[in-house]
Parts: sequence; C-alpha cells; structure tokens
Amino acid sequence: PLHNPANITGINACTAVMGKDVPQVAVFDTAFHQTMPAKAYMYALPYEYYENDKVRRYGFHGTSHKYVAGRAAAMLGKKPEELKLISCHLGNGSSVTAIDGGKSVDTSMGFTPLAGLPMGTRSGDLDAGILQYLMNKYQLNIDDMLNILNKKSGVQGVSGVSSDFRDLENAHKEGNERAGLAVDMFNYGVKKLIGAYAAAMGGVDAIIFTAGVGENSASQRLAIASDLEFMGVKMDAEANNVRGKEVVISAADSKVKVLLIPTNEELMIAMDTAAIVKG
Ligand code: AMP
Repeated sequence: PLHNPANITGINACTAVMGKDVPQVAVFDTAFHQTMPAKAYMYALPYEYYENDKVRRYGFHGTSHKYVAGRAAAMLGKKPEELKLISCHLGNGSSVTAIDGGKSVDTSMGFTPLAGLPMGTRSGDLDAGILQYLMNKYQLNIDDMLNILNKKSGVQGVSGVSSDFRDLENAHKEGNERAGLAVDMFNYGVKKLIGAYAAAMGGVDAIIFTAGVGENSASQRLAIASDLEFMGVKMDAEANNVRGKEVVISAADSKVKVLLIPTNEELMIAMDTAAIVKG
C-alpha cells in the first residue's frame, strides 16, 4: 500500500513518454518468495482467511535476496542448486531469507513488511495481545496503532534517538544505553533467524550480508556472526573490516562462508525485465 501508488505513477509516466507499444514489466519484491512451501507461508489462522482472503506470508526484498544469492553462487564457484544460503538484507527495512537450491524456502517479512525483525521504525514481530492491551488502555483505533507499529517503533522507538544505525552507534559510544539496547535487539533478532533458517534447511553453506547496515556496519556483522562457531561459522575480524565490496569475511577455515555482497536491485530488475520481454 505504501509503494504501489508511486509505482503506478511511474508506469503512467513511462506510458506518456514511450507510448503504449513499449512493453513494461512490473517486478514484484514478493515474486522470489513464491517458491516457499505452505508450511512456511501459512499463518495458523482459520483456513478460510487463506482461501477467501489470501492472507499468507508473501515476503519482500525478493529482488535483493535473489540478486545476492546469484552473486554468492558466482563467488563460491558453485551452481545455485548446490547451495543452502541465508541472505540478511539489513537496512532501514530488514529481512532474512532461507534460500535452498536457488529457491526461497522461508523469509522473515510476512503478509506485509511489518513482520520479522525490528527495523528502523517498524516493530517487527510482536504478540498480537499487545495491540488489544494498548488500544484499550489509550483509546487508540487500529490506524493509530498501525501508525505506531510502522512509524514509531523499531530501533527508533526503543532508543528514542534515531532510526539510523549510525546515529545509534554514536549515541551508544556517548553512553546512551537505550541506543545500545536497540542495536543489540536488532543484532540478536538477526542471529536468531540465522539459527532458525540453518535448522529449517538442515544446514547452511554461506551467510550473506547486504543493504545499508549489512554492507557498511562491520561491528554489527561481527556481533551477529560471532559465537556461531558451534555451527561452523568463524569470522575473520580483519577481513570483515571493509564496506561495500564483494568479499569473503569469514576465516579461511570457516566451514560456513560469510559473504559481504552489495545489493543491486536495479540490475536485478533490469535482468528480470529483459528475461520476461524476451519470453
Ligand atoms: P538501506 O535501507 O539499505 O538504504 O539502509 C539504510 C540504513 O543503513 C540506515 O539505517 C543507515 O543508518 C544504515 N547505514 C548506512 N551506513 C552505515 C554504517 N556505516 N554503519 C551502520 N549503519 C549504516
């Protein structure tokens, strides 16, 4: 609902400039996740809400997860079909995806992008009972509540400082405990998803970090991927001390590779568009 009006404006503008004969392709961020099995995309609600109202997990950031998964295979010299990957797209909006054999098999965003990790201003997953409690106590309607969950929560809400992870890091260095807590909660959430998706796939060959935080924050990558030696993940702190480059950041003897891969959603959209137009 947030992005679709802008996308339709873009389609109309292109039609006005290029005419109706030039094909246009709409690349949906949900498309990559259509391979998820039912056990991953279903919510445990009465089944008719799925059948009649299409309420299910759709997932987002698919364009980015697909792009970095392809690059990871190229970096590792393997075919996508041979790999179990966990892709961490960590930015202002964040999601983690389990990619088995080149296909998305689970992802942390849901019916809407509000689900999963705490984000810049979004709450991520929470007990739905909290909604009833707060709405009754403060006489909020559902629009007020959703506005709080989408725009006033996440690391912004917890820290009271900023939705920008750079500001949080600086504030924490200056002694702001809540800024530190917000970053800890975020990193802990990513770590738990890595564990969950390794279990879901029965293993993992590589973990990928991408997007604003994933590409730039060496300290957060280290915090997330440290203490995972039990599952074969060993970071190389020196190699990790980079930003915005395609590079292996795990130790040479790490069983699970950890990769830093800058995302390129525009290129992925262009590649998907070319593939679809060529039939
Ligand atoms: P994105 O949504 O992918 O554009 O990512 C935006 C997020 O990346 C913002 O929260 C930024 O604070 C974060 N970011 C960018 N550079 C850094 C950095 N050097 N350290 C931590 N976070 C960063």
